[in-house]
Amino acid sequence: MYRRERKSAVARMGAPAPAVARRLRSPAGRGSPYCGTMQLSDSFGRVGTDLRVSLTDRCNLRCSYCMPAEGLPWLTGPEVLTDDEVVRLVGVATGLLEVTEVRLTGGEPTLRAGLPALVARIAGLRPRPRISMTTNGLSLSRLAAPLAAAGLDRVNVSLDTVRPAAFSQITRRDRFDDVVAGLAAAATAGLAPVKVNAVLVRGVNDDEAPELLRWCLQRGYQLRFIEQMPLDAGHTWDASTMVTAPEILAGLERHFRLEPVVGRGSAPAELFAVDGGPARVGVIASVTAPFCGACNRVRLTADGQVRTCLFAREESDLRTALRAGASDDELARRWVTAMAGKKAGHGINDPAFVQPTRSMSAIGG
Ligand code: SF4
Repeated sequence: MYRRERKSAVARMGAPAPAVARRLRSPAGRGSPYCGTMQLSDSFGRVGTDLRVSLTDRCNLRCSYCMPAEGLPWLTGPEVLTDDEVVRLVGVATGLLEVTEVRLTGGEPTLRAGLPALVARIAGLRPRPRISMTTNGLSLSRLAAPLAAAGLDRVNVSLDTVRPAAFSQITRRDRFDDVVAGLAAAATAGLAPVKVNAVLVRGVNDDEAPELLRWCLQRGYQLRFIEQMPLDAGHTWDASTMVTAPEILAGLERHFRLEPVVGRGSAPAELFAVDGGPARVGVIASVTAPFCGACNRVRLTADGQVRTCLFAREESDLRTALRAGASDDELARRWVTAMAGKKAGHGINDPAFVQPTRSMSAIGG
């Protein structure tokens, strides 16, 4: 279904690139001996410097707010970018488009075969981006050390509860202990700060915020609560069932003293010092307190589509151009053109809001 969105994005490819080019050599030197760095700027003056790269749409959990128990029709092999193509496009982003942060996501990125080798190639790019990964943590006991050695800088681990029964209820898998062991392995491997992302689900773990925070504080993990967003595969999200940021904060403030930390910048999480600090907790209030005005994020899907926003309804196809022999400069210009059309915000609170066709598991965190 979302092929229709690509067509309209491709139709816009003709639009002239708004960016200002500075003369530098192409990272891979393909097709254009000289090309300049450009910025992924949009018409609101925001600049994309944080690239989220989905390495697969597959996942080994079945979180109830994300996908059905039976999973989804996964992308097939040829649809998915190869390691060479991922490294090439990330190289274009970091070498020509001034991207400085690369976040590896999924689905579940650790399901990607040969992940440490891919991370090492991304870490070998110059300029070198900061590399982080959003993972469900199930495989970190095995992979944390080799990923750190390969150049991964830090991880965000999704963990919505510290109650094994609630974990099984939310994820439909009895793998709580594996996540706990994975978190410890990440800390031991030096993938710091180890951040924990938690979604509260009404009627399941919506009373658990203080317990989750206490558990993370005891282990030195930085906890961030994320409001559930309308990106589920079943399109059943309902604002009335979402646990809101004010509710989360109210629950925490019954047990902790929280003070806002100034200087958020483009970070999604609003941070609070806990009991005077230095420990902090974060709240990502995408729905009730959107932060799109300072957004510096851009996404690349596992099948080579540029998404300018998590909630974009249009995508720009880089994979076809790449496989057709486009130069680094051409790929960069397509990316710049796509970014120029980025919308002001997600529009979730607009009556006309339409949830994107592509679900969270195929976009990445
Ligand atoms: S919803 Fe879109 S524009 Fe807003 S912060 Fe997220 S990615 Fe950026």
